[in-house]
Amino acid sequence: MKLINNINSLKDTIKQSKGLIGFVPTMGALHDGHMSLIKKAREQNDIVLVSIFINPAQFLHGEDFEHYPTKISEDNNMCKLAGVDILFTPTKDMMYADDEVVVKAPMLSSYMLEGLKRPGHFDGVLQVVLKLFNLIQPTNAYFGKKDAQQLSLIKQMVSDLFLDINIIECEIIRENDGLAMSSRNIYLDANDRKLALNIYKSLKTASNMIKQNHTNCEQIIINMTNALIGLDIEYISIVNQRFRKIEKIIIGDTIILVAIKVGKTRLIDNIWI
Ligand code: AMP
Repeated sequence: MKLINNINSLKDTIKQSKGLIGFVPTMGALHDGHMSLIKKAREQNDIVLVSIFINPAQFLHGEDFEHYPTKISEDNNMCKLAGVDILFTPTKDMMYADDEVVVKAPMLSSYMLEGLKRPGHFDGVLQVVLKLFNLIQPTNAYFGKKDAQQLSLIKQMVSDLFLDINIIECEIIRENDGLAMSSRNIYLDANDRKLALNIYKSLKTASNMIKQNHTNCEQIIINMTNALIGLDIEYISIVNQRFRKIEKIIIGDTIILVAIKVGKTRLIDNIWI
């Protein structure tokens, strides 16, 4: 595995590379969720490039940028074992200049849900993803459905800016008890960890209702709210894949999303119907 931590050697390496490039952008502290993206990239490409970069532009003032979990030597080993060809770990100064050209996420779908409490978050996400796409010029880029709104906005950016990159959607990987894997799960103590299981329980409540032919989103949200008892609910929302709120479930084009706070930790999860 080649370790690259500067832009020029990345550019040289990309220039010399032949075949399909599969790209997996991450912020590190890798877990089995990330590894599932890497595994898929390994199966579908000649070269697999993983980036680890904690992107300052997507954190708001007061969020956990300074304390975001890192475990670079474990990440390095995990990537090696997974057959990654190139691990790219740039610094903030390499990726950003002062007063630069910025990407603006679309108003309607980026200032709701995740973007409502974190205004500008998705501008920062798209900014860094576009920079990484331009540097790496991947054939395929891999994103988890766990960050459903991010995935939708990246797909929209690729379409709106005419980028020639396939966005590959990857399923959510969960712990055995249903908790969606996340780098931030390490913040949870035993009690919070137990409470956090209600997130998956609430999503299961929704999917069971839909299996029994309930289609009214308002009623589904009421039942989910009951399942989330004891948690500080930030939002429960039912949208289509373009992140427009819907009133009735549309099989094949519905995402049910939850964001909660347990203790100081904010967790998100969703299911695609
Ligand atoms: P992050 O390091 O949190 O920026 O995540 C990097 C990529 O991994 C994103 O595309 C995430 O959606 C994806 N990801 C994170 N957690 C999971 C999970 N539990 N299952 C599947 N993909 C995930």
